[in-house]
Amino acid sequence: MMTQPSNADHKPLILIVDDSKYLRMKLRQVLEIDGYRVTEAHDGEQALSLFEELQPDLVLMDCVMPVMDGLAACTRIQTLPGGDRTPVIMITGLSGDNAVDDAFIAGATDYITKPIHWAVLRNRVRRLTRAKQTEATLDKTEALARSIISKAHDGIITVDTSGEIKSFNPACERIFGYAPADVVGKNISMLFLPDFHDADGCTITQLTGEGEPCGVSKEVMGRRNDGTAVPIEYTFSDFCVHKQCFVTLILRDITERKRYEETIWHQAFHDILTGLPNRMLFKDRLTLAMAHAKRNNKGLAVLFLDLDRFKLINDTLGHNVGDQLLYYIGMRLQNCVREDDTVARMGGDEFTLLLPEISKAEHAAKIAHKVTEAIRQPLRIGEHDLYISTSIGIVLFPDDGQDAETLIKNADTAMYRAKESGRNHYELYTPSMNAKASERLSMENSMRRALEREEFVVHYQPKVNVKTGEIIGMEALVRWQHPELGLVLPGEFISLAEESGLIVPLGEWVLETACAQNKAWQDAGFARVRVAVNLSAGQFQLQNLVEVVSRVIRTTGLDPTCLELEITESIAMRNAEHTVSVLKHLNEMGIQLSIDDFGTGYSSLNYLRRFPVNKLKIDRSFVAEIGTGSHNGAIASAVIVLGRSLGMGVIAEGVESEEQLKFLKDHDCFEMQGFLFGKPMSVEDFTEFLIRQSQTCGDRPEVGE
Ligand code: C2E
Ligand code: MG
Ligand code: MG
Repeated sequence: MMTQPSNADHKPLILIVDDSKYLRMKLRQVLEIDGYRVTEAHDGEQALSLFEELQPDLVLMDCVMPVMDGLAACTRIQTLPGGDRTPVIMITGLSGDNAVDDAFIAGATDYITKPIHWAVLRNRVRRLTRAKQTEATLDKTEALARSIISKAHDGIITVDTSGEIKSFNPACERIFGYAPADVVGKNISMLFLPDFHDADGCTITQLTGEGEPCGVSKEVMGRRNDGTAVPIEYTFSDFCVHKQCFVTLILRDITERKRYEETIWHQAFHDILTGLPNRMLFKDRLTLAMAHAKRNNKGLAVLFLDLDRFKLINDTLGHNVGDQLLYYIGMRLQNCVREDDTVARMGGDEFTLLLPEISKAEHAAKIAHKVTEAIRQPLRIGEHDLYISTSIGIVLFPDDGQDAETLIKNADTAMYRAKESGRNHYELYTPSMNAKASERLSMENSMRRALEREEFVVHYQPKVNVKTGEIIGMEALVRWQHPELGLVLPGEFISLAEESGLIVPLGEWVLETACAQNKAWQDAGFARVRVAVNLSAGQFQLQNLVEVVSRVIRTTGLDPTCLELEITESIAMRNAEHTVSVLKHLNEMGIQLSIDDFGTGYSSLNYLRRFPVNKLKIDRSFVAEIGTGSHNGAIASAVIVLGRSLGMGVIAEGVESEEQLKFLKDHDCFEMQGFLFGKPMSVEDFTEFLIRQSQTCGDRPEVGE
């Protein structure tokens, strides 16, 4: 028994063509037993119409038949759709050479002679139907592969080992703009920019990389038909057919991805506001420039800039104006330097300049001077004319640092020094600056500890009314009882406390201590007077200042009318709208408010009128001028007049001499504070002072630090 055709669902169909009914029946029996489907025709003509209708997998064709004989039918079958791929076995009673030749000429695949040898017949049928099936499967697979390749989104190119293009799919046509006919047979180098390949073409090694495994993706610049470049990413795989090797490249156009990567790269290394390189890119460029300088025995300079009083502009005119200012400053800086110099924004109002090939301090200083001048030029933003200056720190490589981090840090230190010594100029870095900077750092740390260890103390300086001789109040002034340095005055640490933010807890502690002390003196039976506490910029900008003050008033039990807060003119003007609202709240609580160091800042009279302030304190520098040649008290007397016309009281601070006392009295200023009446004193000394004062009412005691 022979094996059944494999796939039962697709049993091959066999067309039997014979005019003998008997033979047809016999053939059917044999073939059906072997698992084939069978259909029959009794002559050539019927065979043709059945062939067209049923598309059989094999034809068994008798030679001699009426109407149309087997040879004619076989010839005609070759012309029908699928006819040339369908095997035809001729059954012939004639076995001569001519009959066999005729059968093959007519297109037969094989022949068998009568009388039929059944085993031979069955084997031929089996072999030919199998071959037909295999061919059909191959056809299908090939069609599928072709459609995958032609529909693929990615470009697919096959080349031989010499780089000659063998196939080129439609996606490649889209990417490169060539038709397959333009490229097949040519070297693949025509699809890449010349720097990728040699003059005589592109080799397989170039495409695949020496020893690189298949599937590794590579990027290369492709060249389109019109000569333009297109970034390409490709992977490759190699295969061999009949001992000939080929490489298939699967490639895609990565223009979009490249564009996206570039945007991301730009955003990561540039400042959005000014479009300048940011800190990261600056450091990177500096490191490269340093390596280059080292190799060529050259130097370079870094300038670190910080705009002076930028915060003031931001606070008073708003961030929008501040942002525009930064943008224009960035542009001005770029205009000051050469193309291969780098201008970067480090953040906030800090900029840096990298100047390669500068080895002399004078040259760097010259550029710093040029930059300061450029920044000083007035800038019109909206309806504002802005005058801004900058402080610059300069470092030179290799003298001032061996790595980017150190150079930037030292430039920052030098800039800081420039700020300290009066702003609007530049300072060259010196190693001693670092010592100063680390001194500041250790001071900041010990201040933090001092707060925990309660090393701060408050001293009190009397304020007097010289008309009545009464003590009208005292100013609370903080001191640091340093375990090694002794008593440190606020001038040494207040600005550092401001910068580090320590001023907030420190200021709150002073407020609480002063209020509690005043309450204690009142409870001890001394006259009810006012204690004045200084507020710093940091405290004043706090959102919850009013809350803090009310809490202190509540916990200490001091009558709010016995508290006075002193704010300096520059703090008040820094954010005038905010000042107006905070002062209003404090004033409503019954607290007295005064403007300290009046005359040293830049008050806007307009705002001054709107501030609910009770008193102006004439700065002691103007009091010191009394009796001297320069202005001889002109400013002091002007402030007295101004205060009076604004309906505010005026107090003079820093009164040291009888001459000053007389001058002020003559100008109708009777409230005073100064060494002439009493220096700032500890609680014990001030208590003694109060006792003596109440006994000798009117005399001036000389107690104090
Ligand atoms: P200020 O508020 O203007 O205080 C007056 C300063 O002038 C005090 O200096 C005081 O000792 C000094 N002074 C008073 N009379 C005379 C005088 O006749 N001659 C001279 N030469 N000086 C006189 P001090 O205590 O060194 O304080 C300096 C500054 O530190 C204060 O100026 C104030 O701005 C700040 N400060 C002091 N304590 C605090 C505080 O608790 N918080 C804040 N934020 N700042 C404070
Ligand atoms: Mg004060
Ligand atoms: Mg003052």
